[in-house]
Amino acid sequence: MKTKALYAGSFDPLTLGHLNIIERASKIFDEVVIGVVVNLQKKTMFSFEERMDMITESVRHLDNVKVDMCDGLLADFVNKNEFNVVVRGLRGMGDFDLEQQMAQLHQYLYNDKTETVFLIADAKYAFISSTMAKQVISLGGPGENLVPPCVLEKMKGRLNK
Ligand code: ADP
Repeated sequence: MKTKALYAGSFDPLTLGHLNIIERASKIFDEVVIGVVVNLQKKTMFSFEERMDMITESVRHLDNVKVDMCDGLLADFVNKNEFNVVVRGLRGMGDFDLEQQMAQLHQYLYNDKTETVFLIADAKYAFISSTMAKQVISLGGPGENLVPPCVLEKMKGRLNK
């Protein structure tokens, strides 16, 4: 059986922490889909198209990774596309409570084919969040160790405007 995994998030923007989870997932599963959430409730720094473009550029080296739009209820997207696995990254106890609750909610909402699988964050990237990367880079701090090169370039371009 071919394994198909979903890694979903708003990725505003994609960080090296996200990319590390994607690269590791791509070695475990036959196909990995990055589901970019169109989150209308949350004001994002980057438009949906910008987030998609930066992710597509950053995962170009990974043959079995695709980028897709994730709209509406995540569980509907998961069931419709018959994912075997939904991958989540765990940075520490701060993530754990919410992730546990979400995974348990999804036990009800996903059909029997799907499991949530957690990958523990690489220690090099465990401190990174999209919010923190935006703060550091917008205040002129170094971003090379926080986000992929194309994201850094885009953020710097924004700052110079
Ligand atoms: P959203 O923007 O939708 O809240 P996040 O960016 O917080 O999504 O995260 C999407 C997934 O990636 C979550 O499972 C989260 O725990 C994981 N993640 C976020 N940052 C990192 C990181 N630095 N290392 C590993 N996993 C991460």
